[in-house]
Amino acid sequence: MINAGKFFDGHNDLLLRLWVNHADDPVTPFFAGREQGHLDFPRMRQGGFAGGLFAVFVPPVAWVAGERKLEVSSLEAQHDALAIAEAQIAILHRLADESAGRARVCRTATDIEQCLQQDVLALVMHIEGAEMLDAELTLLDRFYQQGLRSIGPFWNLPNRFGVGVNGSFPGSPDTGDGMTAAGKALIRACNEKRLLIDLSHMNEKSFWQTAELSDAPLVATHSNAHALCAQPRNLTNAQLDAIAASDGFVGVNFGNAFLRADGQRNADTSLNEIVKHLCFLLDKLGEERVGFGSDFDGISVPESLGDVTGMPALFAALAAAGIDDALQEKLAWRNWLRVLKRTWGQ
Ligand SMILES: [Zn+2]
Repeated sequence: MINAGKFFDGHNDLLLRLWVNHADDPVTPFFAGREQGHLDFPRMRQGGFAGGLFAVFVPPVAWVAGERKLEVSSLEAQHDALAIAEAQIAILHRLADESAGRARVCRTATDIEQCLQQDVLALVMHIEGAEMLDAELTLLDRFYQQGLRSIGPFWNLPNRFGVGVNGSFPGSPDTGDGMTAAGKALIRACNEKRLLIDLSHMNEKSFWQTAELSDAPLVATHSNAHALCAQPRNLTNAQLDAIAASDGFVGVNFGNAFLRADGQRNADTSLNEIVKHLCFLLDKLGEERVGFGSDFDGISVPESLGDVTGMPALFAALAAAGIDDALQEKLAWRNWLRVLKRTWGQ
């Protein structure tokens, strides 16, 4: 039995926040609650957050310097993508190992289903921006052994695998070059290992290269509809058609700038903007291929949501829009489990 209001989420940046703000002891603030951000264990419980993809993300040097109040020059020397990724992976495992059974790192869809039934927080390891991987992919096996099940090859900046979307509003996702030869090899390697490939930060060219190369369902873990909000990170109707044809999936992003028709970050965004994107995507993709990809702790969300504890208000908005309990359950977790099972094979 999985309770109403529980949900599985396609994207968050909690590991980055814990690494930046609580590198020495990430476990205590996570389980006791922390002042900032959108996520911690008590608030996740309250909001129905049952599990999700947790991003390992190597931020640009200047960001880290800003948040940690360090000199950029002293940090640049230490800005080792592999070391940062390993530190965040270690945090993920500590959250599970030191949870007294309250959280688990999941490697299969069956693991996640069990967690949902047993009220254990399901943690899935995801990479956002594969800066820490070598072009020969010798590290991929090691990460896989550590629990990695999903990769978005790029974030907003170019890396050895290709170029992500980095445009301003309003704009097209067609931002130039796509994947390098190493990027294409990464897509093939992900297919071989049955790792999920995340299209969310791909530009037009990378998207279509992936669509052509990959034999997996096309999945964008945290993106919205470009027709409703012309953010270059959002998906065009042609891209949505390709996702539907592959029996893929889109997780709706709760970021103001990805929701609003005016592209602003203002937090006075109505929850109906989230409902509008969900309904548009349901119409394009069908009832089985849409869910949530909040981007909690990575973006600014509507103030009526506030943080993860605002999720019951979103479910109320879905009900008010005529989305019945069965479809709410599909959006909340059933569709995520379905596409993960199809991608991972178990
Ligand atoms: Zn992202």
